[in-house]
Amino acid sequence: MMDHPLLLSTLYDRAVGVFGHREIVSLEADKTIHRTTFAETDTRVRRLVSALESLGIAQGEVVGTFGWNTHRHHELYWATANTGRICHTLNIRLFPEQLEYVVNHAQDRAIFVDVDLLPLIEPVAPLLPGVEHWIVMGGTGVETTLPNAVNYEDLLADQPLSGRWPEVDERSPMMFCYTSGTTGHPKGVAYTQRSTYMHTITNTGTLGMSQSDNLLPIVPMFHAAAWGLPFIAVTVGAKITYPGHDLSPAGIVRIFNDEKVTFSAGVPTVFLGVQQYLMDHPDERLETIETLVCGGSAVPRGLMKWYAENTGIYIAQAWGMTETNPVASVALIRDDMQDWELERKLDVMETVGIPMPGLRMKIVDDAGTELPHDGVAFGELFIQGPWIAAEYYRDERQDSFVDGWMATGDVCTIDPDGYIKITDRAKDVIKSGGEWISSLDLENTLMAHPAVAEATVVGVKHAKWQERPVAFVVLRAGHDASGEELVAFLEPHVASWWLPDRVVFIDAIPKTGTGKFDKKVLRAEHENILL
Ligand code: ADP
Repeated sequence: MMDHPLLLSTLYDRAVGVFGHREIVSLEADKTIHRTTFAETDTRVRRLVSALESLGIAQGEVVGTFGWNTHRHHELYWATANTGRICHTLNIRLFPEQLEYVVNHAQDRAIFVDVDLLPLIEPVAPLLPGVEHWIVMGGTGVETTLPNAVNYEDLLADQPLSGRWPEVDERSPMMFCYTSGTTGHPKGVAYTQRSTYMHTITNTGTLGMSQSDNLLPIVPMFHAAAWGLPFIAVTVGAKITYPGHDLSPAGIVRIFNDEKVTFSAGVPTVFLGVQQYLMDHPDERLETIETLVCGGSAVPRGLMKWYAENTGIYIAQAWGMTETNPVASVALIRDDMQDWELERKLDVMETVGIPMPGLRMKIVDDAGTELPHDGVAFGELFIQGPWIAAEYYRDERQDSFVDGWMATGDVCTIDPDGYIKITDRAKDVIKSGGEWISSLDLENTLMAHPAVAEATVVGVKHAKWQERPVAFVVLRAGHDASGEELVAFLEPHVASWWLPDRVVFIDAIPKTGTGKFDKKVLRAEHENILL
């Protein structure tokens, strides 16, 4: 067989040739809708490649992006991927010192920034000596303190179309993604041509996106390549709708319906918001959505039940990490499960599913001994495969990589059918009197209570048991519930010693840069609450 390299440009060229007419829609910062096609986008991608050349950014060099999900971000993804340059997607929610660290660490030479995000990056710019070029996306005649900033459209305007894509090594990096860095500096992962190609092909088949779909990725392009969805959509020739900066539940429902979106993906907090919006606006509904992929943190069972009962949509729970390029498993309802009643299906949907084809997973105990896949034994999840990181980029912290496996830091069970159930992140595990309590099980059950909008459970110091669970709960507007009532609601579902010692009502649960519950903030603030 031909030893043909696995390159993104191969997928891209076919898509432009076959699906040139396919639309790409994008919400602009000024709220207008921008419409283009795969073919027109190709012209702009080729101008952008010439522009990068004119800026002196060579193959193997790094281009930073600081933007929402837009058609311009899409162009940057492909201009870099097709030419062996590296796209470093900067998370717009990083703290300034993290931003400074990741830009300097990745050695970004240019940064492309959305006009409405200028205030976030301008104060950091003086700390980024390696960045020679600033390009502002959107707006015209914009005032900025960024040195020598040019407008994206001006940069592209007079550029010639680049020709054939250059030779690229399939093992060379095409994207840098950094973890949000819960402790210490963020860690970088280099997605290669090969890893992203493999991820794209495998996810294409498994998630079932096709040319009749219209994808709207809510998951940001600055976080783990929007779960690789822009690559998948181009590969299968799906229409793509980019929501820009408007991620409000009302905005999401509007653009879903206006653009006839069929396929979307995001973290649970997004779909919790949409659920609340639909509950508050009973005359509105999701008119065209068929597939919702949800992951990034545990998807509450109550949320999935609500969508199934009220919208007919069975949310597909996915699991992954920045280190897994990023999707590694999805909770597929197998053929033989299709006739099951809802509650039984929810037992499956509540897992993070089965590994993507091509990946191997195992669970091990503290001593490193492999545990049985019996749905009972739980241990740390280890993973290996062609799109699993083998190292952190230019970093001394390499403890996660052991004998060809990556330790995920997630604790789970695997049942005899291969379905993986995450019980906790290792660092969130609650150990009470030496026994583990699953905070995710408690949270999931709490969020099934009709008065509960959001809930999270953390372990805090306890004089007798070392640690005990405390629940932090946000009530739905107009609803009421006492702590005793919520604990009584949990009682039939969990062991009695799992029941939280206290329920604390708060206005909002702190969130991380990627929209996940930020447990470490709550733990730090309330660690002595039971002493
Ligand atoms: P960050 O640490 O920046 O949030 P990641 O997106 O890489 O970065 O987070 C990966 C982690 O998110 C996983 O290790 C896991 O703990 C959690 N996670 C992802 N998907 C799920 C899911 N479906 N259920 C539970 N946890 C999840």
